[in-house]
Amino acid sequence: MTCCGLCQYETNKLVRIQSVRLGSLKWSLNGAILLFICLLMLWNRKYQQFDLVVSSVTTKVKGVAQIQLPEVGEQVWDVVDYSGPGQEKNSFFVMTNVLVTQGQKQGKCAEVPSSGKLCVSDKDCQKGASGQQSNGVQTGSCVKFGILKKTCEVSAWCPIEARQHLPRPALLAAAENFTVLIKNNIRFPAFNFTRRNILPWMNDSYLKSCRRRTDSLCPIFRLGDVVREAGESFTNMSVEGGVIGIQIKWDCNLDYLRQHCLPRYSFRRLDEKESNKTLYPGLNFRFAKYNLVNGVEQRTLYKAFGIRFDVMVFGQAGKFSFIYLIIYIGSTLSYYALTTLLLDWLIGTSCYSAEVGQNYSERKVESVLDKEQCILCVSYVDEDNLRMVKKSKKKILQEVKPISVQPRKEDTGHMQVALCLLQPRADGTDTLQPLWPNVRPGVRPAWCSCGCCAPCAQPHEELCCRRTDGACITSSPVFEQLVVQRPLLEAVLLYQDPLSSGGDGIRTASLRHCAYRQYISWRFGTLPAEANAVVPSCCVRRIREEYPSPQGHYGGFTPTSSFKQGKDD
Ligand code: ZN
Ligand code: ZN
Repeated sequence: MTCCGLCQYETNKLVRIQSVRLGSLKWSLNGAILLFICLLMLWNRKYQQFDLVVSSVTTKVKGVAQIQLPEVGEQVWDVVDYSGPGQEKNSFFVMTNVLVTQGQKQGKCAEVPSSGKLCVSDKDCQKGASGQQSNGVQTGSCVKFGILKKTCEVSAWCPIEARQHLPRPALLAAAENFTVLIKNNIRFPAFNFTRRNILPWMNDSYLKSCRRRTDSLCPIFRLGDVVREAGESFTNMSVEGGVIGIQIKWDCNLDYLRQHCLPRYSFRRLDEKESNKTLYPGLNFRFAKYNLVNGVEQRTLYKAFGIRFDVMVFGQAGKFSFIYLIIYIGSTLSYYALTTLLLDWLIGTSCYSAEVGQNYSERKVESVLDKEQCILCVSYVDEDNLRMVKKSKKKILQEVKPISVQPRKEDTGHMQVALCLLQPRADGTDTLQPLWPNVRPGVRPAWCSCGCCAPCAQPHEELCCRRTDGACITSSPVFEQLVVQRPLLEAVLLYQDPLSSGGDGIRTASLRHCAYRQYISWRFGTLPAEANAVVPSCCVRRIREEYPSPQGHYGGFTPTSSFKQGKDD
């Protein structure tokens, strides 16, 4: 009955190998994979759904310091003075060093040599010009700068800020002892879970007394501690300034003990710290304070150096999710294929096959060949192995190189039957004497080594029973007994078809074919899959001589995969 693809189901055919070694190896590998999967699942909490943190940060810096400003004198600076103008999101700035230029007002003055160029006369200066580095717009005249140099005059805030050396140690080195309170509110939207770094049990007295050194949860940080934990020295860093990152990490497992969802603080420097290797090291910016003196606007210019602290919040929360667990389990199933891959490779190796005396790949894989790529199987009486040869239309079969050599496997079942059938015939007449003359002179072709072969019509029939010169297999008494003798062939045919007429009723052609099969079973044993056994020319000749076709017509060798053996008609 033919059936469409809709009402069919194809499944794989498996080969079960009964082996303690392979079985235990399989279960050990599978166990190791399962263990790995479980460890990975527990370690990375693969059974959980994760959500990233959403957060807001506010900071409050506290501390005052007395500083000695050059040309200004002693001043006390509080948070308003040293925080600089403006607050950025998630960061705060603390000024640690400053250069002050006092009493600037709009006017004309000589450009500083570092920002403009030196001149000799007014011709060197261009009215209205201004460079990228200049502090003002050129007026077109060349004026004295100091005693020896002359520079172009500019309209600018005069006097122009001169290049000065930075005060060392920093003017506001005392900022080391300032403190900052960081308030961080977080939320995991997927789980509607909120939390802040100032924990419910923290009261006012705790916050006033807690220290980062002893309490890792304390939300108040001394700036010196922050810089020190970032691996820097506050004294060095305060001269030119820099950027420090304050990282707050939340890693929460919401499946149990939600109060264990706590922040972890860490610190590191974010900018390039090698000040002598970097062109523009540190962090600085300018701002000015304006005032009116006798109705004229004046300003005090500050070049501020300091440390910016960027607060970065990141983290995730996980909660058990059946769907994520299923997805994880599904994604790990493919790991078990590694076992199959490894074991298949192992049993495919020639080492293992030789060790256990089994060629599993032969049993596992059924190869199908095109009819064109017919593989012939050749057995020589002076060789143990079977040779696999590609059928060639031009080359003599005796001379074609084999594509592979396989050990010969005895077809024990057939041999037992043949020997049983031989037994009753051992009545004294069977003396195991060769009945055929060994060598027939005059007809030997060039490729024949045994001297009994006849010239053939097809190159793939040109095959001798042996590789090297010697006696022909047809001269063996066993050949006579097993392949040629009529009583045995008749008995074999009757054995195969018990209800046939037997005796003289058997056709000569059937006996001839039976003789070929006898020879193939005897000399080839169990044939490898898809191979076609070729009966040597001398044996064909002998069998045809014994059981000739009445018309003298033979079909020659035709490979047929269904019989797995050559057929000669
Ligand atoms: Zn020969
Ligand atoms: Zn021969």
